[in-house]
Amino acid sequence: MAGRVDLDGNPIKPMTICMIGAGGFIGSHLCEKLMSETPHTVLAVDVYSDKIKHLLEPTSLPWNGRIQFHRINIKNDSRLEGLIKMADLTVNLAAICTPADYNTRPLDTIYSNFIDALPVVKYCSENGKRLIHFSTCEVYGKTIGAFLPEDSPLRQDPAYFVLSEEASPCIFGPIEKQRWSYACAKQLIERLIYAEGAENGLEFTIVRPFNWIGPRMDFIPGIDGPSEGVPRVLACFSNNLLRHEPLKLVDGGHSQRTFIYIKDAIEAVFLMIENPARANGHIFNVGNPNNEVTVKQLAEMMTQVYSKVSGETPLETPTVDVSSKEFYGEGYDDSDKRIPDMTIINRQLGWNPKTSLWDLLESTLTYQHRTYAEAVKQAMSKTTAN
Ligand code: NAD
Ligand code: UDP
Repeated sequence: MAGRVDLDGNPIKPMTICMIGAGGFIGSHLCEKLMSETPHTVLAVDVYSDKIKHLLEPTSLPWNGRIQFHRINIKNDSRLEGLIKMADLTVNLAAICTPADYNTRPLDTIYSNFIDALPVVKYCSENGKRLIHFSTCEVYGKTIGAFLPEDSPLRQDPAYFVLSEEASPCIFGPIEKQRWSYACAKQLIERLIYAEGAENGLEFTIVRPFNWIGPRMDFIPGIDGPSEGVPRVLACFSNNLLRHEPLKLVDGGHSQRTFIYIKDAIEAVFLMIENPARANGHIFNVGNPNNEVTVKQLAEMMTQVYSKVSGETPLETPTVDVSSKEFYGEGYDDSDKRIPDMTIINRQLGWNPKTSLWDLLESTLTYQHRTYAEAVKQAMSKTTAN
């Protein structure tokens, strides 16, 4: 840890980071790396701590004293401002961010992603504190190409689908498609942060994650989350594989995504944390443009990789089609394609993702199998016995 320098060769001073949403998927990986590789201190704020329990106990851990957990709901807790004042930097990850909630709990989604983030922005601005705020690639909505005729050659032209921070428009569906409640709330908080920067000098960085996946993402329904809960696609497909049931392809699984390994993405956030002069005032796409697949291809790859890591033979019919209305309910809509433009993050931070989709699926599904296979087997045998 000694002698750590930033990208411009300046020594990095130990800092205190107020991390809101530290108990979630991304927060747990950020905390883990901050503890093992830096001298920084983390004030970890969340309503849950299960995913960072291994960093908080026992007290003999080498980083004892450098991470403190504060069980706080930022909706209504006066301790929040004090923690932001104590820190040099605030990282805000707190959000409702599972698509199954956007159309079924639109009010909670809008409050969580916009209203609840307002005091965080205000306290940072008023107290002259730096803010790294987590937004989403979903602020881009649909691509321009999605509106071209199916057979238009322009659909192959990157100008019609690559998503660029400083050039692409944000294209959402109609209001009755409540899927876009999340994207719209995130867009408005981005605009507010940007305006605080322009009018009041707030030092900010906005991160737009493009489908970060890896261990500890979401939950397995009925094991460490509600039986009827619908997590994001990695956990949905993992759950199907663990239960030896077909993977459900929403509306045929034609939508395209680029997936990035959580550990690659965390490297990018580290560079932002430790290089404020290069990161302040910027919005960064963080994704892996080389890992593009349709959801159907993802299902096929996960089936193949899971069979390898578990030793189980795949089902004869490994996938089944399901309509979005049946799977998510009324008001669902989808992003068609998400390729991040990497120009800005490359220029400012010299960062590039490394891990291929095959490799990241292998390490992630090895983790899922090791962590959940036994618990799922027991839960299934109990259900059969009853
Ligand atoms: P996550 O759900 O695992 O983590 C969010 C954490 O915030 C949870 O631990 C939750 O308990 C906490 N939280 C929510 N509301 C809170 C409140 N009122 N008070 C205190 N804590 C609260 O999600 P994640 O994947 O780690 O995502 C983190 C951020 O990144 C979110 O803002 C999300 O919108 C954004 N994001 C992530 C991805 C991705 O690929 N994982 C993609 C796009 C955007
Ligand atoms: N999806 C699917 N089956 C599932 C879960 C998700 O086909 O069991 C699809 C979903 O409709 C979307 C994609 O997978 O097209 C990615 O969904 P995710 O929940 O990970 O979030 P998103 O990328 O849409 O934000």
